[in-house]
Amino acid sequence: MNHAIIMMIDTHIHADARSSEDFDEMFISGIDKAITCSFYPYDLINEIVLLNHWERILNYDTQRAKKYGLELKVALGIHPSNIIKNYEGILNNLYEYISEDKIVAIGEIGLDSLTSEEIAIFKKQLVIADETKTKVIIHTPRNNKLNVLKKIKSIVLETMNPKLAVIDHINSAVIGEIIDDNFTMGLTVQPEKMEVDEAISILEMYGFENFLLNSDISNMPSDPLSVPKTIRTLEKQGIKREKIAKISFKNAEKFFKI
Ligand SMILES: [Zn+2]
Repeated sequence: MNHAIIMMIDTHIHADARSSEDFDEMFISGIDKAITCSFYPYDLINEIVLLNHWERILNYDTQRAKKYGLELKVALGIHPSNIIKNYEGILNNLYEYISEDKIVAIGEIGLDSLTSEEIAIFKKQLVIADETKTKVIIHTPRNNKLNVLKKIKSIVLETMNPKLAVIDHINSAVIGEIIDDNFTMGLTVQPEKMEVDEAISILEMYGFENFLLNSDISNMPSDPLSVPKTIRTLEKQGIKREKIAKISFKNAEKFFKI
């Protein structure tokens, strides 16, 4: 067996919600890079609060993580739980970040309860992604997952180049809905959502080609080491190194150009 250390990228985290100790542990456990996504966990009084959240991620959390060796790449966008009334102005900030190469994706965005406001904001961001050829990280919810996924899929296919999108938090129950559409899919290994074994069984069944791995660590129950645990379990099971490298970092490197 080849024991050379394999690189790891956690493709979806919320660094602003986590401690320096987590960054330290993640790096020591083999995670080289992570993509930290926008999500504000409390009511937004106005768009300035969201803008401040974005600036904090860009300028503060990236630096906090760097001290521990962890390289953070940033995704910014309006999460469906962060719906605000006056969002047009803040979308101009998003354009600026994209043109200044400050972010690697728009995200996380998506749909939760399928309100018309949610759908309008989601579509606007997909249009920006398509126009600027920027990647998008699309969240799918815990509740009503299949129905929301169907809606997301149809909106993405009619609004943008689907090659730019990763549909995240996919599990065995809903994967059948999108597996034939050649989407990049995110597997979130997280307490209460998906165990290491379920992620591995999906990879074994559908191949390692179109998947990205992440922990989605946030304020909710999370495991900062779920990516290394999954990778090391694959190694322990004797899965071929080329396959493991794809899910560990190569797919993410290629997709996000990081
Ligand atoms: Zn998330």
